[in-house]
Amino acid sequence: MRSETNLDYEVVVVGAGVAGIYQIKRLIDMGIKATVLEADADLGGTWYNNRYPGARFDSESYTYGYSFSKEILDEWHWKEMFSGQPENLKYLNFVADKFNLRQHMQFNCRVQSAIFNESEELWDIKVSDGRELRCRVLILALGLLSQPTMPRVEGVEDFQGRSWHTYNWPHEQVDLRDQRVGVVGTGATAIQVIGEIADKVGELTVFQRRPNWVAPLNNSEISPAQMDEIRARYDEIFETCARTPGGFEHEPDRRGFYEVSQEERYELWDQLYDEPGFAIWLRNFREIFTDEEANAEISAYIAERIRGRVEDPEVAEKLIPKDHGFGVQRVPMETGYLEAFNRENVQLVDISETPIERVTETGIRTSDGDYDFDIIVYATGFDAITGSFDHIDIRGRNGMTLKEKWFDSPTTFLGMMVSGFPNLLMPSGPQSGSASTNYPRGIENGVDWCTEMLEYLYDNELGYFEATEEAESRWTEHVVKMYSVMLMRKAQSWFTGYNSNVDGHEAGKVRYMVYNGGTPKYVATIADVADKDYEGIRFSNDAHMPVEVVTAD
Ligand code: NAP
Repeated sequence: MRSETNLDYEVVVVGAGVAGIYQIKRLIDMGIKATVLEADADLGGTWYNNRYPGARFDSESYTYGYSFSKEILDEWHWKEMFSGQPENLKYLNFVADKFNLRQHMQFNCRVQSAIFNESEELWDIKVSDGRELRCRVLILALGLLSQPTMPRVEGVEDFQGRSWHTYNWPHEQVDLRDQRVGVVGTGATAIQVIGEIADKVGELTVFQRRPNWVAPLNNSEISPAQMDEIRARYDEIFETCARTPGGFEHEPDRRGFYEVSQEERYELWDQLYDEPGFAIWLRNFREIFTDEEANAEISAYIAERIRGRVEDPEVAEKLIPKDHGFGVQRVPMETGYLEAFNRENVQLVDISETPIERVTETGIRTSDGDYDFDIIVYATGFDAITGSFDHIDIRGRNGMTLKEKWFDSPTTFLGMMVSGFPNLLMPSGPQSGSASTNYPRGIENGVDWCTEMLEYLYDNELGYFEATEEAESRWTEHVVKMYSVMLMRKAQSWFTGYNSNVDGHEAGKVRYMVYNGGTPKYVATIADVADKDYEGIRFSNDAHMPVEVVTAD
């Protein structure tokens, strides 16, 4: 085999988050020359950036950790059932340091463009530090929610106090005491922030355009003895995650919704509401996701729980969603969110009634008047999944840009490849198994599959790989079909590609962002493709294509 001398790296991985960390581990273990380019100053992705008060898992911590290393499972002690951001970032650093991965990562390196060089069949990459790098295989581990979006409101720059998007919450401690704080947005992020800061600020004003269904997180500490029990159960835990649709320990109730009486359903919901994490969402009857009537009943139940926790009936009604049912968007988990609105120092401004007109030097002006603040927090969400791809100039064959190709809706093969973009892999791309599951469970499957595909490529001395158009169409049609049975298709959320602050992503059109078939079906499908010698992927043994794996530094 020959080696390719004009390559800087055999593989470049973009992103040092949860997926990038595991991906580089697998590549280094293969002995190939690979590096991670990370735009941030350090590793961690989501857990490096989201430092807002209240940021924590809503996956049980021990189901969120990597499963690939027994050493890590034995050594790491999760201290809370739903661990907070500082601890989660510590964990990712612990993993990276354990396997000496940091030496294979380059920070403050934002990839600006990645252009497929057709004559040499290599990727030419431009980095923000001015370097131009060349690699054969490009792996984009960009994360799902790494492109924050500010509201498209006039005057955001005029505000003279302090303001930031939750994703960019300052790294240094922010003293909130006596501060007048405005929070824009009531998504999963805002719901964590509000629950956490309501009793720490002077005054808190929440600007809500559309309410979200919420349910209590029911967090608790994990004692050393409990952690020992968890360690003893790790095999069982990961087996359970592998057989559930969402990659959690929560298994759906397999009884038919209409097979049990309403009384029994309410008994189950009373129990699930008080259980930790997504139990009320994911251990529920499957019909709540697909059947309007079943969904209406669980929605009515949750609405009653909201009324029971919010003292002012008018505020309670405002906090109950009317435009979508419970669970058809990802359910934000909360700690004290609803009770925050019972406090004297917290007020809810319904901007569906009195819209924000502009941000002023002193605060926010709605059609009803001015609100003055010391701090404005924009919890206004993300240009989800495709946004971080769109911010890199990625060009495949014939100069086609990925942004153009995906403008209406992404099209992919297994969520991990794109036709027309050879030698490109996305272990957690749109329509992959990672996007709608407990993320680490999804990315381990994605990274393992991508790595094994590369091993196949090298073992068989093949040149390049590219998903065929037919395979891509088949997969994308399958993804679209899955949406047709889900009530989710009717909701405006990042699962349907909605973001009111991004051109072309506003309400009114569905973008098919996630795979809804569940973990077991996804894993069986990608395994089948591999078993059939990667059916749906075209490989080449072009003479121009060097096939040797360049040895590590
Ligand atoms: P989000 O769910 O998209 O919520 C954004 C919020 O901002 C919505 O309430 C939205 O209102 C509002 N908004 C956006 N633009 C606005 C504007 N111009 N004017 C007024 N309001 C505006 O974003 P997110 O809360 O950051 O959550 C995104 C995802 O992150 C979640 O679904 C979840 O997957 C993930 N997340 C996970 C965790 C965790 O694991 N623990 C925690 C937080 C977030 P509309 O609804 O009216 O558009």
